[in-house]
Order: sequence, then structure tokens, then C-alpha cells
Amino acid sequence: MTRLILPSPTKQLLFGLTGGIGAYKAADLARLLVQDGVDVQVVMTESACHFIGPTTLQALTGKPVLTSLWQQTQTGNGMPHIALSRSADAILIAPATAGFIAKLAHGLADDLLSTLCLARTCPLYVAPAMNRQMWENSSTQRNIALLRGDGITILGPASGDQACGETGMGRMLEADELAAAIRTAFQPGLFRGKRILITAGPTYEAIDAVRGITNASSGKAGYAIAQAALEAGAEVTLVSGPTSLAAPPVDRLIRVSGAQEMQAAVHQTIPQTDIFISVAAVADYRAANPSKQKIKKPDDNRPLILELIPNPDILLSVTSMPDPPFCVGFAAESENLEHNAEIKRHKKRLPLLVANLAQDSIGSDESTLVLFDDNGKHHLPRAPKIVQARLLIHHIAALYNQQKKTAS
Ligand code: C5P
Repeated sequence: MTRLILPSPTKQLLFGLTGGIGAYKAADLARLLVQDGVDVQVVMTESACHFIGPTTLQALTGKPVLTSLWQQTQTGNGMPHIALSRSADAILIAPATAGFIAKLAHGLADDLLSTLCLARTCPLYVAPAMNRQMWENSSTQRNIALLRGDGITILGPASGDQACGETGMGRMLEADELAAAIRTAFQPGLFRGKRILITAGPTYEAIDAVRGITNASSGKAGYAIAQAALEAGAEVTLVSGPTSLAAPPVDRLIRVSGAQEMQAAVHQTIPQTDIFISVAAVADYRAANPSKQKIKKPDDNRPLILELIPNPDILLSVTSMPDPPFCVGFAAESENLEHNAEIKRHKKRLPLLVANLAQDSIGSDESTLVLFDDNGKHHLPRAPKIVQARLLIHHIAALYNQQKKTAS
């Protein structure tokens, strides 16, 4: 992935560790954050110190690690929890145990880290890490809902093999995924002033008054990308096929049904668009003569022949314009992913194509992506769609800026 340079002045992050096995990823995360130019102050709970030594984090961040409310700091007034939380641009807790999440949810402040969180005026990011049963427990889920309701961002968890030998949800996100989330958080202006158009979800092509052709796309990927684009400061128009999802707070939401309606909405918005991200799973065909009435089953049980005609390729119709915006396509393939994706990228004249295995991604909360552009391919290992969306938005920003620079 293209690494992005953080704008000055240097951002200050309070990086909190609590006592979970995910702490082994914290050293790598600290290294990545420092490489990104973030000023990292590590704060560890007593149990975190049983999992990883403060000396490791001190060496990686170049600063003494804080572990106690009563430790003297150079910040002066003997109230480090106030002073530190005031100077921070964000707090990240990784790993966040079920116990610490419960404390946060209920405002308990009985050690330095929980006190800092309670005294903060900056955004708080929490990366849960725990056994799958603990994650699924209704009290943890209740606490997570409370944190979300308080405007706290929950990063992950991911599913996979766990240290306890079980498999399921609860693994802490990988260090590079968490570093990318912090990069996005510290670059809200990444797309400030830019207008991004996103299509999402399936299309629904009517056959008659009650039946139609559609597909299994849930819209989750497109909606996550719209959310990530908003976080990056863009003005977002979301053209959505039928989904059951709550839409993110975009600037314009246009709900459509069939491909032709989606195409009309896209072309109406394209003149005011800098970047077009075409995530929708558009039906390739529609009924040639949809019936206004419900088609009756014939008495003699003879086969029903339905004539299908091709739908317009919305994305191609945009990339074929004389002066198209920067366009990103998606490809859900069930086999030969990389071969088919490269062919599609060239056929649709795309600077960037995002490929995923259909059976692996459709309807799921997670996906594995491969990005294809002129520089080659980039793998984004399996992660929640919102994490992938944030990484993708970064990649698009890097390519878009590169293209603008070359053109000027
Ligand atoms: O050709 P295929 O459907 O695999 O291409 C996928 C890409 O093209 C996606 O970005 C999708 O949103 C877009 N597309 C489109 N109109 C179509 C079919 C696909 O915009 N009719």
C-alpha cells in the first residue's frame, strides 16, 4: 500500500494497552504509527505489563511508558490524566479487553488509562481483543452498543484463530489495519472539497408487478466506502439499489431500483463529481417487456419464456465520456480472480479496479480485496468492510493525487 505522509503539525496519540494477548501486535503498531510521523505516548494498565514489557514500547516510541496515576510526568501540575488527555488529538486502546470496555461503558476511572479516557476531549478509538465467547456475550455486546452510542469508534474485531485455540470473532485487528484507521482519523481533510459519487447494492429489474431479477449484494461494501469517504471529508452522493441497510449520513442519497434508473441518477450527478466509485452489483440483463400486471401461471403448465435484454454498463458509459472523473470499479469473481480482474480493468478503462471473490464477500461483514492499478496489485487481507473501505479510500487518494500531479 502507498504510505501517506501526515500533515503537520504532528498529531499526538495516546496509545493505551490493556491486558490481552493482542498486546503482541502493539509493538508493531507503535512502530507503524511512529513511522507515520505520529507522536505516540503509550499508557499501559498493570495487566498489559504482564503481556508485553513497557521497555519495548518505550524503545519504539522514544518516550517513557506511563503506567500509574501517581507517576510523575513532565507535564507539571501533578494531574497527568487531565494534562495528557488535553494535549492528545486522539486516544487508541489496542488491545481493549472485555473488562476495560465494560469500564469505559460505565465511566469507571480507577487507573491512569481509564481516567484519561473519562477526562478526554478528543476522539476515542477502541480495538477489542478477546475470546469469541466473551465477545458474543450479551453484556459485552451491550457495552459495545453503549460505546458506539457515546460516539466512540470501535475498530474490529476480526474473526479467525484465537490464542485460546478457538476460532471466531474477537481477534484484534492487525497492526497495519489499526495504523490505517489512525491515519484516516488524523487526515479528515484527505478529501475535503472533493465530491465523491458511489453506487451501492444490487439492482432490481422488474419482470412483472411482483417479480423481478436481482442478486445477493447486500450493499455493505458500498455503504462502508461511503462512510469512509465521509470520514475523509468528502461530499458524498450515494446512489443505492434496494438494501435493508441504514445509510450513512451522506450529503445526497438517491434510492433507485433498476439499472436504467441507476444510470440516470449517476449521469445526473457525474458533472459535479471528482471521483466515481462504482460498487453496485448491476444486473447484466433486464426483462424486455416487463408486465404491469402479475403474470398468471398458464393452465397447461407450458414453460414460460422470458426475453432478457442487456442493461447498459453504467461504469463504462462514464469512463467513455470525453472528460470522465477518476473512476474506480469493482469486480466480484467466482474464479480466476486476478486474470479476470485485469481484463476487466483494461476493458472498462479504469485506473483502479477492486477485486474480491464473490462467494467470500457477498452479504458478509468482511472481505478480502485485491487492488489492481498501473503500479501492480495490492492485497488487503480479510478484515471488516469498514476497515477495508478506509484502506481503499487512502489508496484512491494517493492515486488521485498522483494523477492530478501528472496532469498539471
Ligand atoms: O462487468 P462486471 O459486472 O463484472 O463489472 C463490474 C463493475 O462494473 C462494477 O464496478 C459495477 O458497478 C460496474 N457495472 C456497471 N454497470 C453494469 C455492470 C457493471 O456499472 N451494467
